[in-house]
Amino acid sequence: MDFLKPRYTPMSRRRRIYEGKAKVLYEGPEPGTLIQHFKDDATAFNAKKHEVIEGKGVLNNRISEYVFQHLNEIGVPTHFIRRLNMREQLIREVEIIPLEVVVRNVAAGSLSTRLGIEEGTQLPRSIIEFYYKNDQLGDPMVSEEHVTAFGWATPQEIDDIMALAIRVNDFLSGVFLGVGIRLVDFKMETGRLWENDMMRIVVADEISPDSCRLWDIKTSDKLDKDRFAATSAACLRPIPKSPNASASWRKASVRRGQVRSW
Ligand code: ADP
Ligand code: MG
Repeated sequence: MDFLKPRYTPMSRRRRIYEGKAKVLYEGPEPGTLIQHFKDDATAFNAKKHEVIEGKGVLNNRISEYVFQHLNEIGVPTHFIRRLNMREQLIREVEIIPLEVVVRNVAAGSLSTRLGIEEGTQLPRSIIEFYYKNDQLGDPMVSEEHVTAFGWATPQEIDDIMALAIRVNDFLSGVFLGVGIRLVDFKMETGRLWENDMMRIVVADEISPDSCRLWDIKTSDKLDKDRFAATSAACLRPIPKSPNASASWRKASVRRGQVRSW
């Protein structure tokens, strides 16, 4: 499937700013812009598990484009300008606030583990949590007190981030519900965008099945990255028809642990 292979612009023509676990950032065509390139790399357990899933970057680029485009249209500010090609999008450079903002609707992951709430329990209301974005520390959960005391964001910025998070949650919940998928929780990143002397907080990074827990509304099948954590990349292909292959697929899909820090 050659068309899924990344096509790189010669390195001499653009500068690589950052390479992360899932994406590469390049200098954009104009000051204040960046090119966000989606790789096929899939990591779990804080990058202890790593595989390449062919075509994942193409899908995440498309899904994230869809989400950010619509958020822009309903007045939720984001870094997204436009998609450039199958793997890349043009974005505004922001000063990333070093927090993973998690919104939960249904108990899962670390919330279930830490508080002993059975996975799948509907939460009394949506809950917003903050995790300090730091791979060395495994993205530990932090309180608003930590956020303000260490100067990661001001109280006003926390208010803005929470208001954005609620709106993103409402939008995403509706989109997924429309196609029979329950938005259990998701993670988003935010950043400071300066325009002249004005600064506002915008949604940044990506929103895709790598950063959401998505369950089939009828069967509760997991349709997101948790599937990858529990199995090998093979599970992302359609379930094989042969009974033996199917049995080994099922065996492999026994949950081995938690894929995300949250
Ligand atoms: P990581 O392994 O650090 O999560 P990723 O592979 O997700 O990295 O690459 C994206 C990186 O770019 C992240 O660190 C993210 O915080 C950062 N980023 C996302 N959007 C923007 C933006 N608009 N401006 C600057 N940095 C961004
Ligand atoms: Mg990331």
